[in-house]
Amino acid sequence: MKIDRTRFRLTTEQYFPAEHKKDLIVLHFTAGTTASGAHATWVTPVNGRQQRVATAYVVDLDGTVYEFFPPEAWAYHLGMKTGNPGWVQDKRSIGIEIVNPGPLKAVGEQLNWYPKNFGVKWCGKEETAKYVAAKYRGFDYYAAFPEVQQAAVRELVAGLADRFAIPKVLPAEKQRTAFDPGFFQQFQGIASHQNLRADKFDIGPAWDWAALEARLERP
Ligand SMILES: [Zn+2]
Repeated sequence: MKIDRTRFRLTTEQYFPAEHKKDLIVLHFTAGTTASGAHATWVTPVNGRQQRVATAYVVDLDGTVYEFFPPEAWAYHLGMKTGNPGWVQDKRSIGIEIVNPGPLKAVGEQLNWYPKNFGVKWCGKEETAKYVAAKYRGFDYYAAFPEVQQAAVRELVAGLADRFAIPKVLPAEKQRTAFDPGFFQQFQGIASHQNLRADKFDIGPAWDWAALEARLERP
């Protein structure tokens, strides 16, 4: 597949170049609307220091895949409060950020995303292709992932699983939405951030696990 390895490439001060064996892929959403926004956040030092927070890949709304750093390397992307000594979970996993505003709040006939205390419009309630109505972790609506974007993520996941011999295994359906670090610290396959953090919403209920599963069953 076509991957852009130049536009948002990080410097070696912005991730850890050391290579690690990979047996886990973790899906995230950016809680934003652009790949450039994620890039701007990750390259900005805090108190004069690079934070080395990033994922190897960001998939934009139009399906463009950006490689921010080589997937053999690693960066902080899980932010786990416990159960991650030596950042072993960050090191053994490949993070994929999918550009998506995430949880939405209904205000009258429109759905807003989080800036300005959920004061920015994402879509109207009549624009049913742009969101899903599903309760998850305190929200009733989540922004939809465009099909072109989901298809790109599916190809990326399948390619990485082949390349790194990561099991093409998804968590059982009930487990996909669960916060269960005890289980996921051992899990090999494809998971999402919500499995490792109780306070995260990604990948949320709008993600089409069935389509990913179908893609992974093909060679
Ligand atoms: Zn995340």
